[in-house]
Amino acid sequence: MADFDGLSAALSDRKKNHLYRQRCELQSAQGAVVQVDNQELINFCSNDYLGLANHPEIISAFKNATDEFGVGSGSSHLVCGHSQYHHQLEQALAEYTGRNRAVIFSTGYMANLGVINALLGKSDFIFEDKLNHASLLDAGLLSGARFQRFLHNDIDDLERKLAKAEGGRKLIVVDSVFSMDGDIAPLVELSQLATRYDAMLMADDAHGFGVLGESGAGSAEHLQLGQQQLPIIMGTLGKAVGSFGAFVAGSEALIETLIQFSRPYIYTTAIPPAVAAASLASIKIIAQDGQRRLHLQQLIKHFKEQAKCLKLPLMASTTAIQPLLVGDSEKALAISKILKEKGFWVVAIRPPTVPMNTARLRITLTAAHSMKQVDALLHALADAIAGIVVEVKA
Ligand SMILES: *Cc1c(COP(=O)(O)O)cnc(C)c1O
Repeated sequence: MADFDGLSAALSDRKKNHLYRQRCELQSAQGAVVQVDNQELINFCSNDYLGLANHPEIISAFKNATDEFGVGSGSSHLVCGHSQYHHQLEQALAEYTGRNRAVIFSTGYMANLGVINALLGKSDFIFEDKLNHASLLDAGLLSGARFQRFLHNDIDDLERKLAKAEGGRKLIVVDSVFSMDGDIAPLVELSQLATRYDAMLMADDAHGFGVLGESGAGSAEHLQLGQQQLPIIMGTLGKAVGSFGAFVAGSEALIETLIQFSRPYIYTTAIPPAVAAASLASIKIIAQDGQRRLHLQQLIKHFKEQAKCLKLPLMASTTAIQPLLVGDSEKALAISKILKEKGFWVVAIRPPTVPMNTARLRITLTAAHSMKQVDALLHALADAIAGIVVEVKA
């Protein structure tokens, strides 16, 4: 059993370094208040930014589609699993994002693998922001393309790297809203650079889609980037949309290339048709109901102002992701534990999800929260952080 001894050593190492992960058991639906491990908590760590994961109209769209189409899709899209709900969802997503066409993937992770590997091979180049999501980094490695990571949001560093790349296709990829930092990528400048160096540009809009832009269509709408300027958008349906799955939107040629050549698209079972129907219902609500986005913006503004007054270690984010930088993993865990005792669920995000010595409390605000709940969190945070500092000094 030599192999398993090796595994135990890695596991105890992880524990020793305060990097061990533990899953909590959720005993209720997603929402501002949830039941976890037999305790009621105000939830400040979900990506359900618009509070739609448990919305009655979306639930009934799901139920109705299940009555009609059953549960399983039966097959991959290219065999016999591509239902009318999948198709309608693709058309709605293309229209909503202002792109020629869209295609659904089962998850965002697979969409990222799928796009990058369909577009790039060994003789090509990929340029990724250092803080890109793990799925984008994995996709770049898997593609075998020459891999260049540039400093976070650093246009000059990227330009130096682009200038040196010769021969082969070039693809620049970024999170449009960085998942653990909450800041927005400089997509306008990236787009200009992409044009200048004849590179393709892709944005992972997992945390922008549904939230950013006048009608919630995401980062491209927020920054007014058309298909020409931002040719590849990947969006997910399990965050602000409150459902499950992902999509890629862009030109006819891009989408047809994915359908023909993207292995994570081709060789997997289509998501259940009812999940597509639920996403479709959700997108209709998102596009029409600006109230949720407005309320969320008010919460973000209030949180930032008050956190500043309380001298909390805010990061440079203007989005629903409002992390507080702690640094030390053990300390971040301790603060998260105190918050849980006070009735707030805020997970400590630690390496390797974030760089060494940048453990943080990843607070996410959603349209389901009330101003009162945000105020209560702010006071609990101030107390918990002060408490930890005292403990360390003592
Ligand atoms: C969540 C996330 C993904 C993965 O999407 P899933 O649908 O959960 O697989 C990809 N990119 C970013 C930036 C994410 O935050």
